[in-house]
Parts: sequence; C-alpha cells; structure tokens
Amino acid sequence: MLFVYFGTLFYWLIGRFFAQAPRYLTKSQINREESAVNTTNVKAGFEYSDCYLHDNDARFVFNFIRSSLNFGGIAANYVESTQAKRENDLWVVDAKDTMGNTPFKIRAKALVNACGPYVDQHNQLTQQKTTHHHVFSKGIHLVVDRITDHKRVLTFFASDGRLFFVIPMGPKTCIGTTDTQVDSPETEVTDADREFVLGNANSLLNLKRPLTKADIIAERCGVRPLAITGVGGKADWVKLSRKHAIDVIPKDRHLSIFGGKLTDCLNVGDEVVDELAKLGIPVPYPDRKWYGEPHDTIKDDYLHQAKLMGLDTLTNPSSSEPLSVRFWRRYGANAIGLLENIRNDPQEAELLIENAEYTRCEIEQAAQREMITKLEDFLRRRSKISLVVRREDLKNSQGLMEACHILFGDLAQEKYEEYFREN
Ligand SMILES: Cc1cc2nc3c(=O)[nH]c(=O)nc-3n(C[C@H](O)[C@H](O)[C@H](O)COP(=O)(O)OP(=O)(O)OC[C@H]3O[C@@H](n4cnc5c(N)ncnc54)[C@H](O)[C@@H]3O)c2cc1C
Repeated sequence: MLFVYFGTLFYWLIGRFFAQAPRYLTKSQINREESAVNTTNVKAGFEYSDCYLHDNDARFVFNFIRSSLNFGGIAANYVESTQAKRENDLWVVDAKDTMGNTPFKIRAKALVNACGPYVDQHNQLTQQKTTHHHVFSKGIHLVVDRITDHKRVLTFFASDGRLFFVIPMGPKTCIGTTDTQVDSPETEVTDADREFVLGNANSLLNLKRPLTKADIIAERCGVRPLAITGVGGKADWVKLSRKHAIDVIPKDRHLSIFGGKLTDCLNVGDEVVDELAKLGIPVPYPDRKWYGEPHDTIKDDYLHQAKLMGLDTLTNPSSSEPLSVRFWRRYGANAIGLLENIRNDPQEAELLIENAEYTRCEIEQAAQREMITKLEDFLRRRSKISLVVRREDLKNSQGLMEACHILFGDLAQEKYEEYFREN
C-alpha cells in the first residue's frame, strides 16, 4: 500500500501540485471518515484529488460542441456518413439526415474518421488501409440510490483485480465498471454484468442491506475501442494500452483516430490539428482559444450579479449544490442570460422535474441552444436526468410533459411517446 501511496505522491508532483496533497489513511481513519467502506480486509488506504466531471461525460462533450458553434464551427446531429469517395482532390461524403431519411453530400479537403468504435467499419467503406485497428472492451455501470453523503469517489480493487468505482452522481451513486472483451460495438448489459457489479459493491461497502437488482435505477453500457497494431485477433487484454493512435494517409488526406480516453481529448485535438497542417490545411486562427472557462472578469461579473439577486437562496433544498455554481459550470458566460430570466420571473428558478436538478429557465435555454431533436437528447445527452430518475417516476412526472412543451412545442406529446416507446 505504501508503494501505491508513493505513486500518488509522484502523480501529484507531475501534476505540479495543482490538486490537494494525497493523504495516507489508516484503517481507523477510513472508518472515521468514510463509514461506507467495508474495512474488514483493509490494511490502509489513501486519498488523492483529481479532476471530476460533475454533470456527466455527455454534457462535457456537448459543451465542446456548443462552444465550437459559438466560434463559427458547424455541427449537426443525427447525420450519418454512409460512404465517402475522393473526387478531384476532394472528399465527397454521402451523408444521411437520419431523422428525415434525406441524403445529401458534404465536400471536404480532408476526412477525419472519428467514428469511435466504428472507425474500422467506416475505413472499410472508404477503402482506407490503416496500421491500427480496434478491439473492444465492454464496460457497464449501474446507478443506485446514494450510498454515502460524502462527495468523494471511492475506489477499490474488484474481485477480478481491476479498479472498481463508487461515484457520486447528483442525488444518486454510480457503481462499476466491468472490462470484458467483446467482438462487436453493439452490446448490452447482461445478468452476469449486473451480478459482478452488485456482488463487488456488496462486499466492498458497508451497506445497511445488500444491493439487489431491484435497486438499479439506470444502467450504462458501452465499449472502449482499444487500439492495436495489425488486424483483430486476441490481444493481451490486461496489458493493452488505453492510449490513442492517429493513422494518417497523406495521399488521400485521411486521418483515423483509434482508442484513447476522454481525459486526453484536448491532446488528441491538438494532434489532429498538427497533422492537418502537415497536409496543407492549417487552422485559420491558431491563437484563438475556443474552449475552457471564460475569462475571470466575466466570471466575477456573473458571481456579482448572482449574489446581488440572491440567486442561491432560490436553490431547491433537494439540490446537491447552489444554483450559482451549477449554472456557471454548465453554461459559462451564457449563465448570465439565465440570471436575467430569473430576475424577470423568479418561477424560472423552480425545478421542473423532481430530483432532476434542472430549472425551468435551463430547459428554455436548452430548447434554443442545445440541438435537442428527441427527448432522449435532453434526458441523456445534455443532462443526466434519465440516469438518476427511475423510468416510471419520469413517466409520471408532471414536469416532464411541461418540459416537452418547452422543448418541442406542438410536437410535445409525440416526442414524449417516442421516448418511452424507444427506451
Ligand atoms: C465503460 C467505459 C468507461 C470509460 N471510462 C473512461 C474514463 O474513466 N476516462 C476516460 O477518459 N475515458 C473513459 N472512457 C473512454 C471514453 O468514453 C472514450 O475515450 C471517448 O468516448 C472517445 O470519444 P470519441 O469521440 O473518439 O468516440 P465516441 O465517443 O465513441 O464518438 C464517436 C461518434 O461517432 C459517431 N459515428 C459512428 N459512425 C458514424 C458514421 N458512419 N457517421 C456519423 N457518425 C458516426 C457515433 O455515433 C459517436 O457519436 C470509457 C469508455 C467506456 C465505454
């Protein structure tokens, strides 16, 4: 354990002491500070600090898309590339609007294949031969009622020797994960997956009663595409790197992104930009930064306004954090517009869906700015609502239909029914 603790000190050092210093914890300290941990087989532990996605990965990714739009980028959802060919030094992509089934063409100087687990499939369509290929690791998480009131992520070694996480998720807790080799990106949660996660949670945690399948509020399932050199086959699963690889075919101006981690996304982006520059397509404004937090002066102005109007006194008692904190994290400079709406009508700060941590003005803003086409976009891809509210509670919630009216106007009923039919 001491060896691992020294590892965290080293990690802190290479992070240039940005986070809080790691702490070595004896068994009795763990019992005192986090009684949810079952310390029967524990000798000691440690605490260290790192970055954490408070909302969820989908919101984090959408915020990149939203800010790229603010800076002149073009992004469209529900568009599929069904084929792409080189014509006169250009790529011509056969695109399909999957909502209306309408085909159209996109012309581009270069093609960046960022299809995640479908990268190989798309390269087959376009006949691109790459050094790297993907193998898939399935991972699932289960969401259950809150296990501890403390806000830290608890990390253990599971029965298979891999890391196991208990992660605060707003009013609930997310537990997992699994790591199973699968042949296809299309997977689902099996009973064996559920039993693995629940069994480990029950043995690693001090719970009033063991968790059962009935405690599952929602499930997450996905595949991690892992980059390997060569085609398919069985790789040494444990040793397989999670690092990304970018294969470039200069004559076709084609890039493929394999593997990688979300936490590395800015580095991947920088590498793609560098590779495109080498192909003669430089970034038009190399010194402009379009992502990240707005300037401190904007934040100060926002916080000053929020304080003057007593925004945090309007926070619903069930919320896991004050409104001023949540609005800034989710919307940055656009949170200032929400303050204006609440000043005009304090009802705009009311929660619309129980346990969902979403106010009326946020849903109005989402309708205008967040490319919401289906109810699932709002409930799962812009927010974590469908992960923390049981399906039945969601279905019976008065506020959900009101949210649908705000998001879809006359199509509210249709979109509501579509969601419960498809999910
Ligand atoms: C269980 C699990 C746990 C993970 N944990 C972590 C973690 O703790 N930390 C971390 O950093 N990362 C983690 N990851 C990895 C992280 O999710 C990925 O690194 C990240 O999602 C990769 O982003 P991407 O944009 O490259 O691919 P994706 O997120 O897969 O996006 C690819 C997109 O391309 C679209 N697409 C595919 N084919 C087409 C087509 N023909 N036309 C148009 N669009 C298409 C897909 O619909 C999708 O939207 C985890 C992944 C899983 C599954």
